[in-house]
Amino acid sequence: MDGTGVARLICRAMLPRRFITTMDDPGGLIRDLTLFDRARRFFDRWDVPASFMVVPHGEDGWSLDEADDWLDALHAAERDGHDTQLHGLDHAHCEFGPYPPVIRQLGKRDIDEILAEDTAQCGHLWRKDIHREKLEQAIGIFERAMGRRPQVFRTGALSQTPEMYEVVADLGMRYVSNAITDPRGWAYILEKYDDPGDWDPEVPPFPYQLTGRIIDLPITSEYAWYLTPEKIERHLALAKDDLRRVYEAGGVFTLVCHVQCVGADDGLSMELLGRLFDVARREYGVEFGTLAGLVADLEEGGLTNGR
Ligand SMILES: [Zn+2]
Repeated sequence: MDGTGVARLICRAMLPRRFITTMDDPGGLIRDLTLFDRARRFFDRWDVPASFMVVPHGEDGWSLDEADDWLDALHAAERDGHDTQLHGLDHAHCEFGPYPPVIRQLGKRDIDEILAEDTAQCGHLWRKDIHREKLEQAIGIFERAMGRRPQVFRTGALSQTPEMYEVVADLGMRYVSNAITDPRGWAYILEKYDDPGDWDPEVPPFPYQLTGRIIDLPITSEYAWYLTPEKIERHLALAKDDLRRVYEAGGVFTLVCHVQCVGADDGLSMELLGRLFDVARREYGVEFGTLAGLVADLEEGGLTNGR
């Protein structure tokens, strides 16, 4: 079957309307457990399970498998229906390759200039053998910490090379979540409200065959990054527009948010996300779920049974 056929089947698989919440950066990047606990309790209050994209390693040799407080928190979260997946190794600069344009634009300079600088600084590390070393270390730490291998890999700030995906598959992983359907969320971060662009035509709003061996579970967008009260209505309107379009396309709405924002004590990200959960539940009757649940359904023949 060709890629289009697979995409069509996967697309059909997504009924009923699915809403997946992923939250990036807890662990090696954002080690403050207070932020994580506050975010986790927020999801619990809304009865929304989340996939926590955990950074397994960090500066000064911090390692998830040796951090008892984090192990307790993540295992407790999983017992309560949340999910843990893998987010980079250290989340270091350009760890697994260059950043895509949507991320580079946040540098507020010419994106080609940024690419040239990143390549000069890190390009010698974007090799298959080094990708493999890093990913093996990341998977090893995750496995010792969680007692199982991760099912889904997302790199820090979506840094990537084609060779990295070969390594992911060589190490037995089949799923990544490393592409963005609606880059407008990042244009909104830069307050480019008048000319935010549109969806990336290369990234469908449902799981798709990225390479022969890898399926991408694409991120729809980010709406709740360091908000101010003035931004909330606009960003929420964008999220609602994406909800409608994703479900019209029979896709999977896959939110990305960040622990440093959801767990912040200003409560602004929580306000936006709470209102979004409410709309999704009331107007679309969504089924909230995790990446692990989505993978399980894809693996269990959900491809053809109308689920
Ligand atoms: Zn991240």
